[in-house]
Amino acid sequence: MKPRSLFPGNVLTTVTVCALAVAVAVIGLYVVLHRSANLSTTDYATPLLALTVTTAVLVTVFALLAVWTRNQVSDIRKLIRSAGRMTAGDYDGPLTLERNDELGELARRLDELRERLRTATISRDYLVQVLASMSEALLLVDTAGHVTRANPAACQLLDCDEGRLIGREVADLFTAGQFGEFQLAETGPRARESALLGAGGQEVPVSYTVSQFHGSDPAMRGYVVAARNIAERKLAEQRIRYLARIDALTKVPNRMQFQHLMQRAIARSGRQGRQFALLYIDVDRFKDINDIYGHSAGDVCLETLTERVGRLLPESTVMGRFAGDEFGVILEGAANDRENEAALADSARRILREIARPFAFHGHQIHMTASIGIAIYPGDARNVIDLVRSADSALYHAKRAGGDSFELFNPEMNALATERLMLKSKLRRAFERDELLLHYQPKVDVTTGRVVGAEALVRWDLSERGLVLPSEFIPLAEESNLILDIGEWVLDRVCHDFKAWQAQQLFPGRIAVNLSLKQLRQPNFSQRVLGICRRHGVALASLELEITESTLMEDAERTLKVLDELYNMGLSLAIDDFGTGYSSLSALQKFPINTLKVDRSFVRDAATDADDAMIVRTIIQMGHGLKLDVIAEGVESAGQLEFLRAAGCDYVQGLLFGEPMKAVEFRQLLQSQQQGTPVFRRLLA
Ligand code: C2E
Ligand code: MG
Ligand code: MG
Repeated sequence: MKPRSLFPGNVLTTVTVCALAVAVAVIGLYVVLHRSANLSTTDYATPLLALTVTTAVLVTVFALLAVWTRNQVSDIRKLIRSAGRMTAGDYDGPLTLERNDELGELARRLDELRERLRTATISRDYLVQVLASMSEALLLVDTAGHVTRANPAACQLLDCDEGRLIGREVADLFTAGQFGEFQLAETGPRARESALLGAGGQEVPVSYTVSQFHGSDPAMRGYVVAARNIAERKLAEQRIRYLARIDALTKVPNRMQFQHLMQRAIARSGRQGRQFALLYIDVDRFKDINDIYGHSAGDVCLETLTERVGRLLPESTVMGRFAGDEFGVILEGAANDRENEAALADSARRILREIARPFAFHGHQIHMTASIGIAIYPGDARNVIDLVRSADSALYHAKRAGGDSFELFNPEMNALATERLMLKSKLRRAFERDELLLHYQPKVDVTTGRVVGAEALVRWDLSERGLVLPSEFIPLAEESNLILDIGEWVLDRVCHDFKAWQAQQLFPGRIAVNLSLKQLRQPNFSQRVLGICRRHGVALASLELEITESTLMEDAERTLKVLDELYNMGLSLAIDDFGTGYSSLSALQKFPINTLKVDRSFVRDAATDADDAMIVRTIIQMGHGLKLDVIAEGVESAGQLEFLRAAGCDYVQGLLFGEPMKAVEFRQLLQSQQQGTPVFRRLLA
């Protein structure tokens, strides 16, 4: 609306018109007076002059008034324009009217108001900018819980603009769900967790704090809700939780989680009055697979096993990885009483069959087998730890049976485990009391029947039990460093006996000593061997070290280094139990070996079983191809001997030539050989 002027119409026009009217009136008056009254000029000159002066004065006054009015109007318009700019938010350029009247006062007041508004606006803009620059989502909420402001971060998080948030109940913007309920009343610095509900219905997990502000004006009271997106952190937490429970390789529960699941199965079993079985599965000779084909093959084995067993069992069955190549399976409802052991045995057999199917790995066919120990809750144990222990004892027995088999737990097994521990401590005492013995098993040349050496075999005669077999106590000794002491004792004893035979002008040939992996791993092993031989004055060439295939492959690089040292010192090296490991002959080529020992399991049926016969023949041929001597162990019958001779085997050893014997008996054997024809000549006829 146009401002209305203090004076209506155009003042200057009015003044001019008035002045013209006065002039016309004066001229008219002069004409009238001059003509009608015939007055002389002198008669009216004075009044006319007076009139003219008055008119002039009046015109001047009007003119001055007009100027004053114009100034007034101009200042008022300035004031109006200034007020208008302020309304539009322009606070620049103060309005200074150089006047002391009310308009001047009004202008000063207007300037004061402008300054205040300017300061307030700067503060407000600053606040808005601060809010906008914050990465935290901020919601200003009134005392009734309604949103009054939302910063851009909040809008972004909620995927909606501020206008649509203002007036909404703040609690409605959150969702209780899995992340926790939003609480406006719980103010303070402690962060809580909940989730914001985005416009598209998506849940955004947030950590939030609520602070209260108390302004003097009720409109200035309320809350600030500050929320931070924690979706990434939640994901990381989920991943950590997953990793903490699930085995990364096989994607089945790990030991911790599996034990927890067993605990739950126990609780369920109590409620339902049912039993369940724990199957403890362990891959047979897993180490060999790792050593020969590499760790990725080992990984594939474990994945294959998990996948196959998982596929075979009902979907609800729980499977977990205890460690390495050990797995657990909880079979529920399968065993309500011992009668159902048949069903369990059937499951175990099916699992073993499934695991034993060969699988391809980088062009190799890998034959993996496993052993299973089974314990039943609550019959065999009444808590998780004992149940695992019982299943483990059963597994131990399955392993001892040669692998690829299962065993159900029976209480005697635990007794055996205890006995094992006792045996271990007795073994140490026996060793300390020098109660171990060394027997020699002759090695015989197949073509001449001559004794060409012997294998030293350690014996332990336990008074209350009789002779304990090395297959029983060597593994016990290997669990501790006792095997190092025993190994050194054997070497020492062999050198001692050897020296004694030599002193009697006998030629014992080469004496073989069995080595454990732990011995080979001793940092100064070759120096120790050298030291013992020197002490007794025995040439290193008089000894042969027997190392099993799996020992050799355990840590091939390191073993190779030690074996090279020993070989260069003059010692002979033999691969024991050949054929039972996974190694190929070509893998063995890099080792400085002199002799291959065909495992007695092949020798046993070689004379009667075509497959075994073929294996033994192949080993002999390949061994010779690599310029190695081949010796067969476990020869018990003339038929076996004949087969081996025909197959071209170089040497034999076994019960056919008598039980492993004491040093003195071996001396007698050597003596009779030296006096006449080779002792075993007759066996070759
Ligand atoms: P190995 O080195 O393969 O030893 C051959 C085993 O076969 C010996 O069992 C021997 O008595 C047995 N044997 C010999 N001839 C026949 C036969 O005709 N038929 C059958 N069925 N068996 C026969 P032993 O003495 O019980 O030794 C078992 C294993 O214990 C040995 O297997 C060897 O690995 C280990 N061992 C023996 N003495 C020592 C030792 O001093 N140190 C280490 N580290 N291990 C040893
Ligand atoms: Mg041996
Ligand atoms: Mg052997």
